[in-house]
Amino acid sequence: MMEENKTPYQKHNFLFFGGVQEPSSIDVGGTIAYLDGFGLGSNPLEQARKSEENALHIEDNYLPDREGVHYCDFCAAVITGVEYEVLDSGLERCLQCASSALRTQEQFVALYKKVHQNMEAFFGINLNIPVTVRMVNASKIAKMTGMRLVPSPGFDPRVLGFARRDKNGFSLYIENGSPKIAAVATMAHELTHIWQYVNWNDKLLVRQYGARNQLEIYEGMAKWVEIQYLLYINEIAYAKRQEIITLHRDDEYGRGFIKYRMRYPLTYGTEIGAETPFCNSKAPL
Ligand SMILES: [Zn+2]
Ligand SMILES: [Zn+2]
Repeated sequence: MMEENKTPYQKHNFLFFGGVQEPSSIDVGGTIAYLDGFGLGSNPLEQARKSEENALHIEDNYLPDREGVHYCDFCAAVITGVEYEVLDSGLERCLQCASSALRTQEQFVALYKKVHQNMEAFFGINLNIPVTVRMVNASKIAKMTGMRLVPSPGFDPRVLGFARRDKNGFSLYIENGSPKIAAVATMAHELTHIWQYVNWNDKLLVRQYGARNQLEIYEGMAKWVEIQYLLYINEIAYAKRQEIITLHRDDEYGRGFIKYRMRYPLTYGTEIGAETPFCNSKAPL
């Protein structure tokens, strides 16, 4: 059969080995049954990819504050045995976060460009706003956000970055050495704040929700976006842990997130297009 006469299915089915059907010398069904016999057809990763329904249940039993359990302070995963390191600051870091730590300005800028582009595509927004990305050390972040860190075996939620508006425009500060996934989450969160600064009318929001609820309106949405972004890029386990941790938080982040999550159910898959808080800049909640 000529190449151009093949259907797309025939062209792309690698089991046809270039032909138009499975070669008779290969028992595909039998091979699959054989591999299934070793449990290779039902590993957790494969099942997670199968459907949104399955993705929904990853880390379902995750609890953020189990007694005697160590958690990575960067991705909040449970760390077992000796598979973690303790930093000078007392923070605990899993090996995956250690090995993906971002070190150079170039790495940061490349990652930032990617997240910026994805934010526009995922949420259908325009982020054509000049932003200076700055890489700073942990103590500078702590100083600038007025945060105090007392490390514990549990997950110590802390800020890995923040956005700032001053006379020079917008800046995004991210902690030097952040693991890649934590940096991505921080960038999505902080870019949401920058979008809010540009697109929201504070006077209108104060009239609508009251001055004391402003932080909830801002942070609840930023948390919602951060988690939905992680789901879109298929970081389901990390996203689910963040979701559970945030639902347990009794502060503006937690309370705000619960409200946004009710109004805009999270999409546990890669399909974009559902209504998001970005659609309603006059009344996000
Ligand atoms: Zn980690
Ligand atoms: Zn925030």
